[in-house]
Amino acid sequence: MNRIKQSITLLGSTGSIGVNTLDVIARHSDRYKVFALTANKNIDLLEQQCKQWQPVYAVMADEKNAQILEQRLHRAGLSVSVLSGQSGLVDVACDAATDCVVAAIVGAAGLVPTLAAAKAAKRILLANKESLVMSGQLFMDTVQSNQAQLLPVDSEHNAIFQCLPDRCNDGVLDKYNKGVKRLLLTASGGPFRTLSLDKLHSVTPEQAIAHPNWEMGRKISVDSATMMNKGLELIEAHWLFGVALENIEVVIHPQSIIHSMVSYNDGSVLAQLGNPDMRTPIANALAWPERIESGVEPLDIFTVAQLDFEHPDLTRFPCLALCFAAIKTGGSASIVLNAANEVAVDAFLNGQIRFTDIATVVDETLSRASISTEVDTLALILDADKKARDIARATVSSRGS
Ligand code: NAD
Ligand code: MG
Repeated sequence: MNRIKQSITLLGSTGSIGVNTLDVIARHSDRYKVFALTANKNIDLLEQQCKQWQPVYAVMADEKNAQILEQRLHRAGLSVSVLSGQSGLVDVACDAATDCVVAAIVGAAGLVPTLAAAKAAKRILLANKESLVMSGQLFMDTVQSNQAQLLPVDSEHNAIFQCLPDRCNDGVLDKYNKGVKRLLLTASGGPFRTLSLDKLHSVTPEQAIAHPNWEMGRKISVDSATMMNKGLELIEAHWLFGVALENIEVVIHPQSIIHSMVSYNDGSVLAQLGNPDMRTPIANALAWPERIESGVEPLDIFTVAQLDFEHPDLTRFPCLALCFAAIKTGGSASIVLNAANEVAVDAFLNGQIRFTDIATVVDETLSRASISTEVDTLALILDADKKARDIARATVSSRGS
């Protein structure tokens, strides 16, 4: 059968989600073609990806790197157009020739192109949770008013998406009519779930990024170790599914086999299970409402044998408590929290602060920043983000070793 191929723009193609997405796409050349690939600094990998995929566009964050890439591709006889900067990302995300935008840039840098894709009514596969944490209401309004399509790639949100009734999946969840009671967001608890509390302050970046179950980029790995990741995911779930914070519960599930659950008013709890491999949610979002091969090994429940569940410990994971508080505060609090966390994680990875200082930097930034109630435009969101980064950097300097 000759099918029309979906044309994909992959924002952040050199990252962990990006590489996994290309792995799934490679299994389905009859369904997908690559329109654009983008990277921050990794010229070598983007060059290699361009040679393999021959996209129409490639984008590098920095103009000089874009020139280097362009020369290399030209020498190889490829006619890929190379763009740079945020405008290059926005251009490829909105181009009329792309159907689907995979938002896999890490951090706040993903916001502008992802929001632009929503305005351009694209099918958006959202991995970049930070953009939704920063712009929740604006982002969801933009998706709805432009009739864009939003499909969650984050494994927990993709699991919830799969466990919700069909007609809930085309917009904001009409939870009471569909009998949905609660969302149960699972979390592995990361590498330090059982480490004695007095050792937490001396853990190294290498220990923090060594996640027991998932292979991911450095920033999200540290976020998983502090459980800031689960806090950001709470905010993400709140916006994606239109569910109040009181109706979302975080469940520690160390095996990472159940990726989240939905509890209904008749007593049913639906769960999505699978091996911890991002190619499953990526394939699910790429092909939805169909299902395609992802390359992930089938789950052997006999090998898994046991599934455990615990309540999260907010003393061990103060970042999770800060996220609960930020959602309750509302306004720009989530933007400030996210910005401070990005600065603090970067400082931790660069050896400037200790692991336990991450929560302290976020907490101090939240108390020093003025929290604004009006964050309904992109300009106001970016302004709140910038001011919070300045405060967080000053806080890092005052704590730095
Ligand atoms: P990563 O660090 O491995 O990759 C990030 C990608 O973004 C790279 O391609 C990088 O070049 C690009 N990038 C970084 N900074 C940029 C900038 N300033 N401008 C333009 N491009 C930039 O990260 P990842 O683990 O792939 O995560 C990507 C996103 O997906 C994050 O928001 C993360 O929270 C989310 N996510 C990841 C996983 C996972 O398993 N890795 C799971 C769920 C959600
Ligand atoms: Mg997740």
